[in-house]
Amino acid sequence: MMDRLTRYDVGRDDLAVILDGQPRYRVDQVWQALNEQCTEPSEWTNLPKALRAELTEALPSALTPITESVSSRGDTVKFLWELAGGERIETVLMLYRDRATVCVSSQAGCAMACGFCATGQAGFTRHLTVGEMVEQIARATARARVAGRRVSNVVYMGMGEPMANEARVWSSVERLHADFGLSARHITISTVGLIPGIRALAQRPLPVNLAVSLHAANDTLRDELVPINRRYPIDALIEACAAYLEVRNRRISFEWAMIDGVNDRDSDAVELAALCRRLRPRAHVNLIPLNPTPGYPTQGSSLRRVHSFRDQLEALGANATVRQNRGTDIDAACGQLAAGQPVQLGRRPGQQPAASTEG
Ligand code: SAH
Repeated sequence: MMDRLTRYDVGRDDLAVILDGQPRYRVDQVWQALNEQCTEPSEWTNLPKALRAELTEALPSALTPITESVSSRGDTVKFLWELAGGERIETVLMLYRDRATVCVSSQAGCAMACGFCATGQAGFTRHLTVGEMVEQIARATARARVAGRRVSNVVYMGMGEPMANEARVWSSVERLHADFGLSARHITISTVGLIPGIRALAQRPLPVNLAVSLHAANDTLRDELVPINRRYPIDALIEACAAYLEVRNRRISFEWAMIDGVNDRDSDAVELAALCRRLRPRAHVNLIPLNPTPGYPTQGSSLRRVHSFRDQLEALGANATVRQNRGTDIDAACGQLAAGQPVQLGRRPGQQPAASTEG
């Protein structure tokens, strides 16, 4: 795919070319407006009107706002955007007392076909460009400012599999780090467990956080819940995590969406704790009850079970935290992002991904 250049694909040098013939300070002015203030060309009233109009043309936006939903408590905002090709994606802004986190999409849809995930149910459309990813953060930053807040954290946990789009995801990480002032430690990349991506990340220069969506600790169950496990089974995945930890002095999070009667049994806690002990003490399990999605019949575990599962893990020598679930009332919680795409009928959990995962 030839990436269409949009306003957040443009680097400072490109901007100098676009602003050729203008006073030199214009480059800084526009650069700061884009990356620090995160404003729109129409708002750049410190520029002559004609130049503003020119820049609106030269720096097209990648995202057309369709809807913005706010949770009943007002602390979660979900954005639905349309891309140039008509595809739709979502971004979520979560306001906590001590931080504000943007959950960014890396693909339109997803090819990984996890049956319990609304994005997986919808299937894959395409990879997002760097500009499409960075603009999600820019727009969420502008929205956070309306609430008097500054974006402090970015998680690649929206629609798509970031490690299937690793090169572009990494370029976007570099932009956030260099130009948005976000520290690498406040950026998290989540993967379904694509081993080549984990290896690539270990070689990248910035120490971002790695999260692995584990959800099952034996291959029979994981093959079914997370179909890519057939290509990258648990043992090889844990080895890749161990290799990553040898290079990076960080910890790895394991995501575990608790599904009633499926992966919340005592035996699951025992198997999961054994995997964590292999990475001791640097694996950390994040537990949440599965969120409801249209294409998956089984329910999330009760909060009581989630807490007792956590206690079991701790007793078995694994670190675990029960995570707060955000934005369920506006379908903005983990696994609920589908951007209004219909579920592909006839596609069952456990079926091989239909679309290619390569760029
Ligand atoms: N593809 C990447 C990034 C998505 S992150 C990955 O899988 O890690 C979204 C997280 O929400 C993943 O951990 C995913 O497994 C989890 N998830 C998906 N569906 C869910 C659901 N219905 N309830 C709770 N978590 C879910």
